Amino acid sequence: MNIPAAVLDAVLLHCREVYPDEACGVVYGWAERPGDVHGVLRMHNVADHPRFRYEFDPHHQVLIWKRLDSLKQRPRIIYHSHTTTGAELSPTDVRYANDPDILHLVVGTVPEEVVDVTAPVERRTGLDIRLWRVEQGAATEVPYTIVERVEDPA
Ligand SMILES: [Zn+2]
Repeated sequence: MNIPAAVLDAVLLHCREVYPDEACGVVYGWAERPGDVHGVLRMHNVADHPRFRYEFDPHHQVLIWKRLDSLKQRPRIIYHSHTTTGAELSPTDVRYANDPDILHLVVGTVPEEVVDVTAPVERRTGLDIRLWRVEQGAATEVPYTIVERVEDPA
């Protein structure tokens, strides 16, 4: 999976803005390009205890999924942040992951002073961001590459 630096920055910014709650949202890409993503949609975390878990509004999610489809886009990654732990999926995260085609990006707790989102990606340190696929109740890590940008299909 190729993830543009700007996408990662948008995700990180969201995580920092809602801290100490967990941020959550969707990263999407062109339908015909499953290995690339280029857009970020923030979602409201409607969980009862947003400091400890995340939950999408199911009606909002259906609307977003339909809208993406009408624009020839697909949800590729669901992201969320952890605010007291690392970037491993929790047992709850694994239990609620119901689509093996949509990957899960987890941003582990990152002290604000460690990461400057305005610095070039290669100069940032302390990033604890991991990508996962959940299939039949088991999580496996998926490698990703941070790229400068993704070209639109012709
Ligand atoms: Zn989690």
